[in-house]
Amino acid sequence: MKIAIVRERIEGENRVAATPETVGKLIALGASVSVEKGAGLGSRILDPEYTAAGASIAASADAALKGADIVLTVRRPSAASLAGVANGALVIGALDPYGNEKDVAALAKAGVTAVSMEFMPRITRAQVMDILSSQANLAGYQGVVEAAAQFDRALPMMMTAAGTVRPAKAFVMGAGVAGLQAIATAKRLGAVVSATDVRPAAKEQVESLGGKFIAVEDDEFKQAETAGGYAKQMSAEYQAKQADLTAQHIAKQDIVITTALIPGRPAPRLITKAMVESMAPGSVIVDLAAERGGNVELTVPGKVIEHNGVTIIGYTNVQGRIPTTASQLYARNLLAFVTTLIDAKEKKLAVNWDDELVKATVLTRDGKVVHPNFAAVPAAEIKPVAVAKAAPKAPAKSVEAKAAPAKTGAASAKKPAAKAPAKKPVVPAMADTPKKAAPGVEQSIPAAAEAAPSPAKRAATKKAAAVIDTAAKVAPAKKPAAAKKTTVAKPAATTSAVTKPAAAKKPASPKGAK
Ligand code: NAD
Repeated sequence: MKIAIVRERIEGENRVAATPETVGKLIALGASVSVEKGAGLGSRILDPEYTAAGASIAASADAALKGADIVLTVRRPSAASLAGVANGALVIGALDPYGNEKDVAALAKAGVTAVSMEFMPRITRAQVMDILSSQANLAGYQGVVEAAAQFDRALPMMMTAAGTVRPAKAFVMGAGVAGLQAIATAKRLGAVVSATDVRPAAKEQVESLGGKFIAVEDDEFKQAETAGGYAKQMSAEYQAKQADLTAQHIAKQDIVITTALIPGRPAPRLITKAMVESMAPGSVIVDLAAERGGNVELTVPGKVIEHNGVTIIGYTNVQGRIPTTASQLYARNLLAFVTTLIDAKEKKLAVNWDDELVKATVLTRDGKVVHPNFAAVPAAEIKPVAVAKAAPKAPAKSVEAKAAPAKTGAASAKKPAAKAPAKKPVVPAMADTPKKAAPGVEQSIPAAAEAAPSPAKRAATKKAAAVIDTAAKVAPAKKPAAAKKTTVAKPAATTSAVTKPAAAKKPASPKGAK
């Protein structure tokens, strides 16, 4: 039973699907693990660390994939890249199937069993496998960090001998997993936080984190939650009322973090150009829904822009901007699922095709697209495997230069902001709370318990990255210079200037090696 891990080919994707910790556990289950050389560098994991865990290092992706029974991945690989895997091999990751039906059909044609972790049911047993939660939680945190970095004032109230500085006002739109973590993070940084959501259950959760809840609480609002806990598409009438209420509120905010999503649909448009123009210059908006089209009219997915002095951050893979932590949690999500697919006594694959977790997540099997959400794509439309687009060889910059595929374990994600500030938080209404971790997986993953990489390791990482990617250039961190202009009053059509996204934060990460 061979498991393969290859370096992610999507530009800017620095996460990796397995860590030395999870590799060791996969090997204990009876697998042999082959890791492509340099696969972990974007997350500061060196090849020798995988080797020490028992993996073998393959010189190329093809060599790692050859004969693999399971391929663990962050993003959806091309069908062409999987030519050498075993027939029917499981390809498990954030496959982002919506809008990518032709690629899914190509995976079916390639004979692999594609498993989309985004479809993991939100039930007790599967919480430890919930990539949307683990990654959205990080996106919510990182979104606030990005905002604070762009914001040219302090977030907390400062009482000094030279006088008092008022705290920043932060508004979070969408109080799901990412939003709740954004609220908690902004509170920790000292901002005065308010939030909105269309689900009534969010009100208590927002308040429990010390935020003020702002919403049109009419009859439609009272029924705006599906049985699965997700938001429903709201009527045009409700959206207009919501826009009226939030428009006045937004004008007084310094920082706005938007996270609103509706599964399987484009992100709802919540902030218009006029609302952006109502904000004071120097304000910052982070659109965590950028990958799904954005909650902000002016968002440019993958870019940081400035409009009338307001910075709008549209990164499409925000959790990928803290790849080391994101990989650690993502890899554990995958390990927990793979553990259910293996007979540890016999040390072989033993997939129960009737298991609800398997049924919910398998997209393709035996040459066909089998997931009920995806209508069969006519054979003529399937991209021939041989001409599938070659992807960049290495994760390029840690800042997205273009829109990445939709909601990967990324801009969405879903684990309640479990760590609330002072007050006891009301944790998002999970139908049921896990009592026990899946076999072989720790239930809670206290990030603080992880040892920080030693200076020696950092140096070694840098060195290894430099060897693999001699062409890599580290761009300096950049704050948009125009951010402080307060009197620009150009015509609307010309006032939005696309600025270079902030520079790579992880100098050691491989960048754009070919
Ligand atoms: P999501 O990523 O799909 O959406 C983010 C948030 O945007 C949601 O809270 C949604 O209500 C909100 N939203 C949608 N349209 C909006 C609009 N027009 N205005 C304002 N807000 C809008 O959601 P999520 O983060 O996956 O969370 C969905 C729910 O699932 C939450 O209640 C979460 O706590 C719950 N959850 C349950 C489990 C479980 O295992 N049972 C696991 C994770 C999350």
